[in-house]
Amino acid sequence: MLRDEFGREFHYLRLSITDVCNFRCNYCLPEGYQGRPDAAFLSLDEIRRIATAFAATGTRKIRITGGEPSVRADLPDIICTLKEIQGIDKVVITTNGYRLPERIDAWHQAGIDAINLSIDSLDPAVFNAITGHDRLRELLEGLDRAIDLGIKTVKVNAVILRGLNDRQLDQFLQWIKAMPVTLRFIELMQTGDNEAFFKKHHFRGENIKQRLLAEGWREVQRDIDAGPAREFSHPEFRGRVGLIMPYSKDFCATCNRLRISSTGQLHLCLFSEHGISLRHLLQSDDQLPELLTFLRQQLGTKKISHFLQQGNSGGTQHLAMIGG
Ligand code: SAM
Ligand code: SF4
Repeated sequence: MLRDEFGREFHYLRLSITDVCNFRCNYCLPEGYQGRPDAAFLSLDEIRRIATAFAATGTRKIRITGGEPSVRADLPDIICTLKEIQGIDKVVITTNGYRLPERIDAWHQAGIDAINLSIDSLDPAVFNAITGHDRLRELLEGLDRAIDLGIKTVKVNAVILRGLNDRQLDQFLQWIKAMPVTLRFIELMQTGDNEAFFKKHHFRGENIKQRLLAEGWREVQRDIDAGPAREFSHPEFRGRVGLIMPYSKDFCATCNRLRISSTGQLHLCLFSEHGISLRHLLQSDDQLPELLTFLRQQLGTKKISHFLQQGNSGGTQHLAMIGG
């Protein structure tokens, strides 16, 4: 088991497979992806070795993320490879849903257990203004298909932005009356690149929580490998609401996840100063014992909390470089 000095155990790995993205979300990559499209991202063998090592230390769930993970043509192979690793119970993905209706069947066949789809607005014009793409209808079709295929967990992520989509809470809540998805409102996080945007558009998740409680929503229990969201249910709604509030007190106390960037850097926190390269330990299957020892040593250096409240987002320029 991977455990840090503060007694936190790590069952959940967020694995980025590319930094490339085809969207231009105004809070993340407002100018679009600016790096090299041919950068040396993790190979399928390297991904398999990472997952094997983490499974051996108690990781049960792996989230594939990016950039936009679906820009990799070998994504179905990556899903299959992760599913075959003993000890990994859940392979899940976070995606912007680009061409989802064409792609979701292949992910399902490969064995994907759950999908988190980013939909920042249900109004096509606002969706376009935030992401730079007129693709809301396509995402919603893909979402319906995921539900029809019987993918066990389907969640929707929406970053709440003051002045852009914060007035659309009613529309979002109305939508999940009949829609059996968990709708997760994510509080905007400050990163190295978005300071001015953050100051203008940050909206406190606590405001949403107070509204939900006043309207009869009740908080539900978390699973051991659950992400950071606090979840709420209501008897009159088929869907649930999740709140991700990184600025709330004690957000880091329940941290159960580690991150690997698309170039094989271990990040002990979303907002750490830098990653720790694992690549030299990913070149052959024989290196597994060395990799395990290295991971355990590095865990000893994980800090108790991020320093976001002080406006310090570490070395994270934007979340596309580490997968959110
Ligand atoms: N491209 C995929 C997507 O958008 O779903 C996966 C990567 S993206 C970095 C993962 C999640 O992080 C998305 O739900 C996105 O909305 C969220 N995100 C990105 N930048 C953020 C920020 N500054 N604050 C809060 N959430 C952010
Ligand atoms: Fe791309 Fe996801 Fe960032 Fe949007 S949030 S720019 S889809 S990586």
